Amino acid sequence: VTESVEQLVERLCAKIPDHPEPGVLFRDLTPLFADADGFRRTTDALAEAFRGRFDFVAGIEARGFLLAGAVAYASGTGIIPVRKAGKLPRETYREEYVLEYGSAVLEIHTDDVPRGSRVLVLDDVLATGGTLGATAQLLHRAGLHVAGFGLVMELTELRGRARLGGHRVRALYRV
Ligand code: AMP
Repeated sequence: VTESVEQLVERLCAKIPDHPEPGVLFRDLTPLFADADGFRRTTDALAEAFRGRFDFVAGIEARGFLLAGAVAYASGTGIIPVRKAGKLPRETYREEYVLEYGSAVLEIHTDDVPRGSRVLVLDDVLATGGTLGATAQLLHRAGLHVAGFGLVMELTELRGRARLGGHRVRALYRV
């Protein structure tokens, strides 16, 4: 019997207690990404969940980049990097958002893709939804449509999905 994608994600996710700070159970997906079959089936499943619904893929720095490159290639689309503050060299839209401690800034270039394009946003883990919510704001300001959010894992008790409006959200493994 072949393992399901959900089972693959569960098996190849390392759980690290108290990282990066006490009380957080960190979900590390590098074993999944390092596994050839795991990586291919993960990125294929994300591409399939949104097939025909997007013109570009956006990856969130840094683990989202790993997924976005593969999904964009498999789908025959281009890719947009959503980066942390100060990394992009030309004019950007900036969105500041609140973290558990302090705040963070995400940026995209203002003119990498045509306004009106449909953009699929990818990241590894959905926790509180702050990161993806800020990304939706950025895309909105750039005149882009959010085609949906694709995640490998969703930490359901943090209720991040509730912060993502009516957008389509697909997580391969929900815990
Ligand atoms: P959030 O904005 O709270 O949804 O957090 C999302 C970002 O933080 C994602 O880029 C995740 O990779 C990372 N993250 C948050 N909590 C965890 C966790 N428990 N394990 C792994 N990554 C996490």
